[in-house]
Amino acid sequence: MGAELKRNLMSEWWRSMVHTREDIVGIDASIIMHPRVWKASGHLANFSDPLVDCKVCGERFRADKAPRAEPGADTIITLADRPRAEAAQEKIDKQLLGPSGDTRMRRDGKTLTGAKVGTQGYVCPNCGSPFLSDERQFNLMFRTSLGPVDPVGDMVGVVRKAIAEGADEATIRLRVEESLAESSVYLRPETAQAMFVNFLNVQQSTGLKVPFGIAQMGKSFRNEVKVEKFIFRSVEFEQMEMEYFVPPGRGPEYLEYWKNERMNWWQSLGIKAENLRLRPHGSDELAFYSDGCFDIEYKFPWGWDELEGIASRTDYDLGQHSRESGKKLNYFDQEATDPATGKQGWHYVPHVIEPAAGATRGLLAVLCDAYAEEPADAEGKGARTVLRLHPRLAPVKAAILPLVKKDGMPELAREIVAQFLDAGVNARYDEQHAIGKRYARHDEIGTPYALTVDTQTLADKTVTLRQRDDRSQVRIPISTAVEVVLAALREA
Ligand code: ATP
Repeated sequence: MGAELKRNLMSEWWRSMVHTREDIVGIDASIIMHPRVWKASGHLANFSDPLVDCKVCGERFRADKAPRAEPGADTIITLADRPRAEAAQEKIDKQLLGPSGDTRMRRDGKTLTGAKVGTQGYVCPNCGSPFLSDERQFNLMFRTSLGPVDPVGDMVGVVRKAIAEGADEATIRLRVEESLAESSVYLRPETAQAMFVNFLNVQQSTGLKVPFGIAQMGKSFRNEVKVEKFIFRSVEFEQMEMEYFVPPGRGPEYLEYWKNERMNWWQSLGIKAENLRLRPHGSDELAFYSDGCFDIEYKFPWGWDELEGIASRTDYDLGQHSRESGKKLNYFDQEATDPATGKQGWHYVPHVIEPAAGATRGLLAVLCDAYAEEPADAEGKGARTVLRLHPRLAPVKAAILPLVKKDGMPELAREIVAQFLDAGVNARYDEQHAIGKRYARHDEIGTPYALTVDTQTLADKTVTLRQRDDRSQVRIPISTAVEVVLAALREA
């Protein structure tokens, strides 16, 4: 069921991004790309630097770039707003300073005082906190080696030689890294970079004119420090990302456009408006190259959390790949006037708007949103658990149910199933238990329509069509059943 639901969600994304638009095309690039792609994107730069996590604001930063502070000195912790400062105060008092029960941090608005710099001699560059993890060689990307030769064998030789020469630990590490570098490749931590390196390929082969987009969905891998909240954060997950290339100066306008498009898309799949919000990134959160970023957040059972990011990334990505590869990633607009020269014909590096959504995380949001426990009526009947999935997302679209297992009803029901499957609609035959139990079972997995074959069917070739959401029932001819369900799916 989960596999079907995820496929349906991803197909809906592809349909809205690629199949129903003329300005976006899809690609399917490899998971292992050339390591220089990750050098250009900046993912490799942090690869072997000692990184530290701030236990208060969650910032991960390079220890050597952190603001220095005298061990034992007082430090002020500043959070983005008052609610975050309150949450941080509670966390520091209860978890980080140990459970004495006292309030040891003092809060004034969004700042906290009462903490002292530790022996590490630096504080978090984001919030100023001295509550930090140990320094670690973080490795966000999964590294593996290309080629059949086992790199461990080479490594042993390198280490032996370095020890024999009396090399210190840092030198040994450096030499091991150098020996590994030749064969090291990485599993992609995001799908986005493939769209940048394929920008020219796609533009020239399709003849698309800016503004246009390239979309991709598929597996990404991150060596997350903490996997959490079921499938909310995992090391292997699926993304649905699109890079929309626009002329310089028009980023803000298209950021606005994509913010609306993406919010509308989640709602078009039945996610309740009150459970979605757009959160602008504060200037302290924005990447240095970005001139605007919003998170679409969903109200998960534990609170608001990111579902999708929509970022205006300026010309940073194409610029980086152009510098690293030595290949110009420009676009030539014959009809536009070059603002620098005032002449017709403008060569420029397109700017990028990126809506980047998590498919696995989206699946979790869809499940949370659709789950409902409905109480019994005044007569104590009708209590049920129902998954109010959007019909196009539902794993099974139609349950085909013979009222009883005799009188030719099973055979007729199987014929109806075959008609649905022929039309590409996922229908399921179910004859186990009483009809009420079967309706309940399909309500629980979100099947939007149930067709029941009963005694009347044998006489007049009609079936009852039951709707999951209001449990209403109508009789329709078998001959129209597939078309009725298809029309309902289209219009849902
Ligand atoms: P977070 O802040 O939650 O770590 P992020 O800002 O690093 O996410 P992006 O790099 O913007 O995430 O990736 C785009 C989307 O991919 C996210 O909005 C999220 O839905 C999804 N995503 C990112 N990391 C994970 C993960 N480890 N597990 C599941 N989904 C993820």
